[in-house]
Amino acid sequence: MELTIAQKLEALLKLQTIDSQLDEIKKIRGDLPEEVRDLEDDIAGFETRIGKFNNDIQALEEEIERNKNVKKDAEKLIGRYKDQQMNVRNNREYDAISKEIELQTLEIELADKKINEAAFKIRNKQEEIKATQGALDERKADLKAKMQELDQITGESQEEEKELMGKRDSQADHIEERLLKSYNKIRDNAINGLAVVMVKRGACGGCFNVVPPQRQADIRDKKKIIVCEHCGRIFADVEGVPEPAPTGRR
Ligand SMILES: [Zn+2]
Repeated sequence: MELTIAQKLEALLKLQTIDSQLDEIKKIRGDLPEEVRDLEDDIAGFETRIGKFNNDIQALEEEIERNKNVKKDAEKLIGRYKDQQMNVRNNREYDAISKEIELQTLEIELADKKINEAAFKIRNKQEEIKATQGALDERKADLKAKMQELDQITGESQEEEKELMGKRDSQADHIEERLLKSYNKIRDNAINGLAVVMVKRGACGGCFNVVPPQRQADIRDKKKIIVCEHCGRIFADVEGVPEPAPTGRR
């Protein structure tokens, strides 16, 4: 069954009243939910960073281990070459083995250099972990405090909010989709969350611009949905009794 304009406006106004109550609850919570979300994001970011540093350290420790093995092998070879040098038959053989020893000595030096570099990097990463851990602990403490605060505020209004949400859903069901869409759009763009307003003392209840008497009369008639020409809000009705029309004119 198609609703009359008056019924549609009444339904919209009811929805607006519920939404305004919900807005009020959200206002009390203020920026807390967003602050909690930001802190949670920060914490996740720091934890990822620490995880990455730990992975880096592990890779560096493996590199150190690898280079220690390289050193061990080179030292073994040098020992063997030195034994061989005792039994050479000529200078040429002696020089050839000396070259091999020199090569393995260089291998050891290079491995030492790599070990030192990796150890240096590990110390840096550990410093970074310490700093990040400090920031992480701070954020965690912040988050705990904010969550408690939010829980307390939410706890107080949770029941009421749940009830209002239920009411909102069933009220929205009474309103045709196209109208609901424009209602939501107007509400999204309005700072005060008002999409449906009354004309109060001759002015729009949303933007306070004057509504001319003839337009007020049209709004009262409810033959069509009339929106404020300044802010686009839907007029539900005009508050108070109509002023008597000036006599002797029109
Ligand atoms: Zn307006």
